[in-house]
Amino acid sequence: MSAEVSLKKIAIFGSTGSIGTQALDVIRANRSLFEVEILTAHTNDELLIKQAIEFKPNAVVIVDETKYHKVKEALLPLEIKVFAGESALEEVADFDSYDVMLAGIVGFAGLKPTLKAVEKGKIIGLANKETLVVAGDIVMQKALDNRAPIIPVDSEHSAIFQCLVGEGRNPIERIILTASGGPFLGRKPNFLVNVKRDHALQHPNWSMGAKISIDSATLMNKGLEMIEAKWLFNLNADQIEVIIHPQSVIHSMVQFEDGSIKAQMGYPDMKLPIQYALGFPSRIKNDFPRFSFKKYPNLSFEEPDYKTFRNLGLAIEAMKDGGNRACVLNAANEIAVWAFLKNRIGFLDITAVVEKTLQEITFIPNPTLDEYFESDGEARNFAASLIKL
Ligand code: NAD
Ligand code: MG
Repeated sequence: MSAEVSLKKIAIFGSTGSIGTQALDVIRANRSLFEVEILTAHTNDELLIKQAIEFKPNAVVIVDETKYHKVKEALLPLEIKVFAGESALEEVADFDSYDVMLAGIVGFAGLKPTLKAVEKGKIIGLANKETLVVAGDIVMQKALDNRAPIIPVDSEHSAIFQCLVGEGRNPIERIILTASGGPFLGRKPNFLVNVKRDHALQHPNWSMGAKISIDSATLMNKGLEMIEAKWLFNLNADQIEVIIHPQSVIHSMVQFEDGSIKAQMGYPDMKLPIQYALGFPSRIKNDFPRFSFKKYPNLSFEEPDYKTFRNLGLAIEAMKDGGNRACVLNAANEIAVWAFLKNRIGFLDITAVVEKTLQEITFIPNPTLDEYFESDGEARNFAASLIKL
């Protein structure tokens, strides 16, 4: 630990999720560097209470209002402020008292609070990729206007960010996003048609929340990540390449204009990019297992199967079309993934729902924030009508 690092106050949005709990692991191991200021959860009151008792934040939010009294009562002796409801997320994001927002909410729900933190000029540790997929142009412009640094937490984007440190204004020629290929790498539609929820949730290399696990199985995650990268690093679609790398050791690469390629590597463990984002610009010493090349003599790479995993192509098209297309893609995907998780539709239906929704919703070339919200709502309604929810 370097002496010049001062105590940072962290607001963890989505503290009960996979990213949120791992962020708390990082903070637990670095109490002299980080203090928890805010914790938020959707419905998991029990874990939120446990976390609040351990980390003693200034405030917590439980989005599910039916849980308010239970949380309030449990945290009364500790004098922790308790808020409830969706709008409370923005209310606490507006606090002056924290330095870094760890944006770990899943899906479109993360957009509003993250935007609020950006408007406040906070440092954003961005795990919630949907924020940039939906409204990347607006979020990045506001970040610039308010001098809010966005430090990616997504492992691929953290890798690219780390490769860019020290490169000043050297232009990027292209980035190479690595993808594990998910649990169904090499499978064809005749297999995928019968795939069930529990199988799709079993990712070979990463343990993550349900939504991103399904996105990884359909390759939509990589499509969302291409769009996320476009906004984060100010790239054109043709500067972003995806390569399947089943070992998930190279987390992503940047190629510069002299042809040189930089990669960031390590074991697949989200705690590292989380720690990097919280500690940036310092690297914090830790005891995570060190990578062994001897145990990985073969790192392999292959072209994605665009014909089978059509979500990737749909996301690329949406990125190229611009406007509200990625917002529509994201909304339809959230509804379809939710329906798949409830065993309401099959695995291949996820792509069909996204594709039909993209065909239906009117294209808006330069949406305002309100128009993004409208497009999101329309796309959700249409996707739900396809599924007959
Ligand atoms: P998760 O499902 O494990 O956790 C989601 C968190 O968000 C929970 O704390 C939950 O309470 C909260 N939440 C859910 N719906 C909400 C709503 N409507 N309003 C407010 N809060 C809500 O998800 P996760 O895997 O931790 O992923 C979080 C984000 O990070 C996603 O955008 C995901 O794509 C991204 N991400 C995750 C990983 C990973 O390893 N888990 C890796 C890279 C990026
Ligand atoms: Mg990722």
